[in-house]
Amino acid sequence: MEKKELTALTKTIACELKNIGIPISDDIEDIVVNTRAKARFGACKIKKNRLGKKTYLIEISSEVLGCETKELSSIIAHELIHTCKGCFNHGNKWKIFTDNANKKLGLKISRTQKYEDMGLERPEEKEHIKYVVKCQGCGTEFPRKRMCNLVKNPEKYKCGKCGDILYLQEDKHHIL
Ligand SMILES: [Zn+2]
Ligand SMILES: [Zn+2]
Repeated sequence: MEKKELTALTKTIACELKNIGIPISDDIEDIVVNTRAKARFGACKIKKNRLGKKTYLIEISSEVLGCETKELSSIIAHELIHTCKGCFNHGNKWKIFTDNANKKLGLKISRTQKYEDMGLERPEEKEHIKYVVKCQGCGTEFPRKRMCNLVKNPEKYKCGKCGDILYLQEDKHHIL
């Protein structure tokens, strides 16, 4: 989905929400795609422009752009409702509006949306640490995910904290 389509979809959803009486803010500055956020599907941020006027920026994770329209719409609606007065958290007011939207628009907005609910596979969040170089002096660990000069020749490096000698820990295959 391109940004243009995402913007159009957001406008449509905002309109539908307003039509059922949910006062979505008119001061939404932009909706952007976040390619780094994997832990959360969306975010609603408050910004202040140069005149001190409050505007909202909505971020949608690129992870969910491939979802079915209903799932994606629910994520967008979740963030849009945060722009209503007094709805910046997931308090009572936010809850009443989302319940209403779910009932009347057939959405499935929830406080926390899980990958499984979205029909998505959970991405590998934790990468394997293959090597751990350790300081002989202070014990600081320098985990590395792949072979590199530090792993190959730890003796050529010194600990950044205490200046002592570094060595490669054998058989230390752990996961962070
Ligand atoms: Zn939220
Ligand atoms: Zn050290």
